Amino acid sequence: MNTIYCCSLCSKQYGTDQIIWKCNCGGLLDLKFTPVFKLKEIVSRPNSMWKYREAIPIEKDSDIVSFNEGFTSIIKLNFGKKSALIKQDHLFPTCSYKDRGASVLISKAKELKIKHLVEDSSGNAGCSIAAYSAKAKIKCDIYVPFSATEGKLFQIKSYGANLHKIVGTREDTTLAAYRAAEKYFYASHVWNPYFFHGTKTFAYETVEQLGWKCPDSVVLPTGNGTILLGSFIGFKELKEAGIIKKIPKIIAVQTKNCSPIFNEFKGIKTQKQFSYHTIAEGIAIVSPARLKQIIMVIKETNGDILTVTEEEISSTHKEMFKSGFCIEPTSASIIAGLKKYLKSLKKQEITISLFTGHGLKTANK
Ligand SMILES: *Cc1c(COP(=O)(O)O)cnc(C)c1O
Ligand SMILES: [Zn+2]
Repeated sequence: MNTIYCCSLCSKQYGTDQIIWKCNCGGLLDLKFTPVFKLKEIVSRPNSMWKYREAIPIEKDSDIVSFNEGFTSIIKLNFGKKSALIKQDHLFPTCSYKDRGASVLISKAKELKIKHLVEDSSGNAGCSIAAYSAKAKIKCDIYVPFSATEGKLFQIKSYGANLHKIVGTREDTTLAAYRAAEKYFYASHVWNPYFFHGTKTFAYETVEQLGWKCPDSVVLPTGNGTILLGSFIGFKELKEAGIIKKIPKIIAVQTKNCSPIFNEFKGIKTQKQFSYHTIAEGIAIVSPARLKQIIMVIKETNGDILTVTEEEISSTHKEMFKSGFCIEPTSASIIAGLKKYLKSLKKQEITISLFTGHGLKTANK
């Protein structure tokens, strides 16, 4: 496999044997990599995200850090007169889809023989990185905002990570992690492109589970855009490999109380938000590092972006529980957005979304 880092700003290239997390110019790094899809082998392998082995940029099988995760089931749900497909990604080993990204990123850390890493997160990415680091026997320091949910902190600590609770905003937490990253490997789910080459398996699995067909639209959350950008990479790779003919419309969901991408996309001029309150803590990101890329993806796929209110999130959250689905509030915010999107449609199309995080994580909130 020939994989290289490529700067999203100045196009400078770096070998992926280097331990770097951004370009010298400060730009975000992406991966240049050509995936291979061996369809015959893929369908005969056990169902996990690693069945797309030749499409994931890790050299040796012995470096793979995995719990045989992925290939989560898809369920059809009715919303009013319309329906949508939901991929149950809250049923991952650490109870959120972030495990897709962590499995690939920690495999890369193992390949690089990393002994100690750091990550900052509002919760779930920290849980995933902590669990996979535990499996790989890599020391890990996780930085979280003071306000992070108890259930997620319990997970991080129990996996054996050093937990650092930072007073201030989510951005203060990131700054603390940047400082620690001067010493240790920065396993960032936002900066490290290997994470996105894990979340992209959401697209692969969706297409295979639909009988190698592409949905018309995908409704996805957008804080830092880890599943949104990952899905785009996945669909694009499948299209370039000739497996699907089109890329679905990507519909992004933000909360009304924290909507920097929505504002930028719609050209709404506001003062930069410094404080916000939303029960969708997982997507409350004031300055998403990959904002420009997210907007590009929505435009390129002919998609859209919408916002949901706190009331819409909490009523959808209750509705989902009453239908037997145990998801966390952030996860409910995407379903609230999905309902809005379906309502706006004149006729039914094949729409897929996902449950992003399990409800027990926020049980005593
Ligand atoms: C991470 C996460 C999301 C999406 O967040 P991004 O910042 O866009 O990657 C959505 N729901 C849950 C539960 C999450 O943990
Ligand atoms: Zn650069």
